[in-house]
Amino acid sequence: MNIILLGPPGAGKGTQAQRLVERHGMRQLSTGDMLRAAVKAGTPVGLQAKAVMERGELVSDEIVSAIIGDELDSMGPDAGAIFDGYPRTEAQAAALDKILAERARSLDHVIELDVDEDALVERITGRFSCATCGKGYHDTFERPRDPDSCDKCGGTEFKRRPDDNEETVRTRLAEYRTKTAPILPIYEKRGIVRRVNGMADMDDVTRLIEGIVAS
Ligand code: AMP
Repeated sequence: MNIILLGPPGAGKGTQAQRLVERHGMRQLSTGDMLRAAVKAGTPVGLQAKAVMERGELVSDEIVSAIIGDELDSMGPDAGAIFDGYPRTEAQAAALDKILAERARSLDHVIELDVDEDALVERITGRFSCATCGKGYHDTFERPRDPDSCDKCGGTEFKRRPDDNEETVRTRLAEYRTKTAPILPIYEKRGIVRRVNGMADMDDVTRLIEGIVAS
């Protein structure tokens, strides 16, 4: 199964993708995570992407499509893929069609997480995660039980993404509106878009997505 999770930053794509990984053993292909790892490792891709990401703009289509192709090649042919944060432009959507066809894969669902943009800035600027296991938290909505240690692994260090500040978030939302939202009609024409209310409780969103995956 191959699924795209589509929605603006902060819509909950990463959280829902992780849940699908845990439940179905699918693989999460998050271009944002892969780019952050490249930045951290100081690879040539990371060096090129760093400043663009800090501004909240989009990294080049060629770079992200190449890393998606490589990632798919590292997976077994039967492993399901969840595309999280890719494609983000019409050129990437076209590249993905080609990448999948070359690997005898096809898209099953495009799940759009529908959210209210005003709520996103608060959601994103308050989020942080455990530096050890990656568990996500939020200043207002989900604080660790003990403020100094992670509920899941006991880790004592937390981190915030450098691009989760208000100014960058506004740019990221504008990028979504102008470059990513226009790819929806491509998939609507194929009849594979399923819309989910991303403002619902996270567990309810998971249940709705489970229903789609099982259908
Ligand atoms: P994300 O973690 O998905 O919010 O992505 C963080 C940042 O990485 C974005 O703001 C972009 O700068 C870059 N990025 C991630 N995925 C893509 C993509 N598919 N196309 C272009 N840039 C991307």
